[in-house]
Amino acid sequence: MHEGVEKILVSEEVVQHRIDGLAKEILVKGEDNIMIVVLLKGALVFAADLFRRMPVMLDLECLNVSSYHGGMESSGVVKFLDTTMPNFDGKRVIVVDDIYDTGLTMKSVCDKIQNSGALSVESCVLLAKDKKHDVDYEPDYVGFTIGDEFVVGYGLDYQGKYRNLPYIGVLSEDAI
Ligand code: 5GP
Ligand code: MG
Repeated sequence: MHEGVEKILVSEEVVQHRIDGLAKEILVKGEDNIMIVVLLKGALVFAADLFRRMPVMLDLECLNVSSYHGGMESSGVVKFLDTTMPNFDGKRVIVVDDIYDTGLTMKSVCDKIQNSGALSVESCVLLAKDKKHDVDYEPDYVGFTIGDEFVVGYGLDYQGKYRNLPYIGVLSEDAI
């Protein structure tokens, strides 16, 4: 186990196996006009593993959004940090994020893309917290539902660190 990590919540093996399933769930609904939109930086690792399991012609775009600003709680405000937006015209957009917490990020991003000419917009998250979300929205594809606790690894950070862990873990008290 890595320094600062108290327990492994979802192992590397289990994560990888579930992503096989998620890729299939997405493709079974159709293989055409797919555009993967990765929400940086957290979804970088997950998205890279996900879209490499999708052997179809697809487009890839990234959006830089921020709501946690490196801490342990949502600031309640979703900031779009990009100055320009990709062209979503006629695309079946799949927005990929690491984790669904308050739901604010996914809802804001999906609304924005839907209003920008996309054919359709779906959402895929590796993790969703089992709690009452602040918005009236549910992600279309969910890897794992976890408790309402702060997790790191596999793209998810604490103050910019821990993104490189190959599993989903919980930090020890003294790492915080
Ligand atoms: P939401 O807008 O749904 O509240 O939050 C989504 C974003 O908050 C995620 O993309 C992620 O960046 C961050 N986030 C939410 N929960 C956690 C968590 O448990 N750990 C980490 N590292 N980031 C989280
Ligand atoms: Mg994020």
